[in-house]
Amino acid sequence: MSFRTKMIAGIALIQALFLFAILMSSLAVLARSRDQALKIRAVSDARLFATAAANALVSEDMGALQRLVRQVVRNRGVVYAAAWDGDGRLLAQAGAGAGRPHTFRAVTSVAVDGTSYGKVEVLLRHRGFGRVLAAARRRIVAIALGELLLVGLVSWLFGRYLMRRIGAIEAGTARIARGEFGFQLPTEGDDELARMIAGFNAMSVQLQALQDEAARRHHEVLTLNERLEERVHERTEALAVANRELEYLAMHDPLTGLPNRILLQDRLLQAIRAASRQPASFALMIMDLDGFKDVNDSMGHEAGDRLLQETAKRLTGQLRQSDTAVRLGGDEFAILLPTVARDIDAGAIARKLLRALEEPMVLGDQTVRVTASVGAVLFPAHGDDVSTLLRRADRAMYEAKRERHGFLVFAPVMEEEGDDRVRLQADLEHAIRHGELVLHYQPKVDLVTGKTSGAEALVRWNHPTLGMLPPARFVPLAERTRLIEPLSLYVLRTAAVQARAWADAGRPLPIAVNISAINLGDGEFVGHVERILTDAGVSPDLIELEVTETALMRDPECAEAVIRALSNLGVRVSIDDFGTGYSSMAYLRKLTVARIKIDKSFVMDMGVNRNDGVIVRSIIDLGHSLGLKVVGEGVETADAMAVLASLGCDYAQGYHLARPMDAEAFDAWRQANP
Ligand code: C2E
Ligand code: CA
Ligand code: CA
Repeated sequence: MSFRTKMIAGIALIQALFLFAILMSSLAVLARSRDQALKIRAVSDARLFATAAANALVSEDMGALQRLVRQVVRNRGVVYAAAWDGDGRLLAQAGAGAGRPHTFRAVTSVAVDGTSYGKVEVLLRHRGFGRVLAAARRRIVAIALGELLLVGLVSWLFGRYLMRRIGAIEAGTARIARGEFGFQLPTEGDDELARMIAGFNAMSVQLQALQDEAARRHHEVLTLNERLEERVHERTEALAVANRELEYLAMHDPLTGLPNRILLQDRLLQAIRAASRQPASFALMIMDLDGFKDVNDSMGHEAGDRLLQETAKRLTGQLRQSDTAVRLGGDEFAILLPTVARDIDAGAIARKLLRALEEPMVLGDQTVRVTASVGAVLFPAHGDDVSTLLRRADRAMYEAKRERHGFLVFAPVMEEEGDDRVRLQADLEHAIRHGELVLHYQPKVDLVTGKTSGAEALVRWNHPTLGMLPPARFVPLAERTRLIEPLSLYVLRTAAVQARAWADAGRPLPIAVNISAINLGDGEFVGHVERILTDAGVSPDLIELEVTETALMRDPECAEAVIRALSNLGVRVSIDDFGTGYSSMAYLRKLTVARIKIDKSFVMDMGVNRNDGVIVRSIIDLGHSLGLKVVGEGVETADAMAVLASLGCDYAQGYHLARPMDAEAFDAWRQANP
């Protein structure tokens, strides 16, 4: 049943019930007043009858009494009349009617001068009044029904009027539900419905405004997204370009455009593999200019640079396509000759190169004549791995320079040690066994939180006669002999004990230990590390190992395997002096290292040399793109630290924060700088 029908039916029913009730109650009032009138008449008729009957009763004239009774009954409405004597005996009666509805009985005693002679009774009834009442009731029902109809009709019309306007609101609601906003419903009048429609219209406008706003926002977000994507794309491109540049830079010497040490190592490795398969020989030469320092000092760096560029040009001018000329650094060059198999052929080429250099070079307004020293090795006669070949070619070059030979091929005698070295070596052996080596610790600080995040252990030799020796004085010596192994293990053991002590004291701090390339090549090294950690009872995450990038590149495959084994132990590995070893991005990706440490030379010169700033930034980006944390070393000033922080570098280490110090001093420093 619709709302309208319900409303109409309700109103009509209430109306009809009310009307019915009112009419019926007036009918009841009417009937009651009629009865009342009848009662009064009955009493007065009885009184008249008593007066008239008095003579007949006194005289005991029964005939007159009977006539009188019959006469009374003939009166309108009287249905029964009777007379009794003083003893209650019925003397005369006429009519009938006792027990009928709507009859009224009146009894009056007949007294004369205070003496009662009997009593008379009259019964009155209004005849036909029941019929009148029934007719009135029927009419009332008819009127009520008519009323019902009329009210129904009026309500229906009124409902139609109401529903037309409510229907408009209903349709509007449906449109809103469909998501149509902003339309207006027609308003008429000023009643509640009109106000409701006005409110509805306001809501529709408001919704439209909200929808427009949402659409605008959505559009904005889309545009922003697009712009962001563009930017990401640009950045990615820029990063790719930077990476290519970095890789080129990593492989080439910017001054001469020649390949650098890393590319040489790569080519050497390839040459070794190719020659091993054939089998065949090849030659490697290292050349060092004589007196280059003098040119630099007397004529300036620019002249020095021009000399190096000219040298590079002349060298490549003398070589074949398959040969590689490399600038190793400073005034040192290397030449890889894949097709040269004999000493004499190498010698012939070396002399050709030296002659080409001796042609006068014009630098500004001066002319110089360049001489150089060349050392050569042959594969496989003088070595069958990259580092041995390079080291021995270098050795031969030094001998050539020392003996002013111009050119020398390596000979085993060149590697025999001098007397001094033998003595220092014996001392070092003794020092390791007798605890003359001490560790100093330098803090590493988190650039975001400012907290100390670790320490680097740096070894010193407390020499009985020479005093405190820096690592540069004895680590290279240890590396040339087998002593680097006990040295590294000694340092590692000491650091592990220290790490345990700090942890036990409730202030654990990871300690980084430097290891050398030779340790990486030692098949037992990882086992040693594991045992040392177990013996000291120290958790592997409290010891970190630092390997220089150059050490990694000596034998990249082996280094990769050792680093993987170490990280399986839970020991983290960092790449030290990053930026000097020319590793490639592809290679770095393979390593499971935790962080890279930017070589301190770049950080220290960042303020003065723009190129160094660029390199620092590139290394940080490169490290982050590989998911590695980056440490800036050699932070000597607050400025350098601020620049590193602004470039997003993660940790800093350097004299600005603290110099390396013994464990006790370090403890005190840490207490002051938590
Ligand atoms: P490294 O691993 O690069 O260590 C950092 C060197 O930079 C330390 O020199 C440290 O004193 C120095 N340094 C730190 N902050 C600054 C700074 O702000 N400015 C400057 N100019 N220098 C700073 P240290 O102690 O003389 O060590 C030199 C190198 O010796 C080390 O370089 C590391 O390669 C090697 N080394 C040190 N201890 C060990 C060791 O136990 N085992 C091995 N194999 N090598 C070690
Ligand atoms: Ca280091
Ligand atoms: Ca370093």
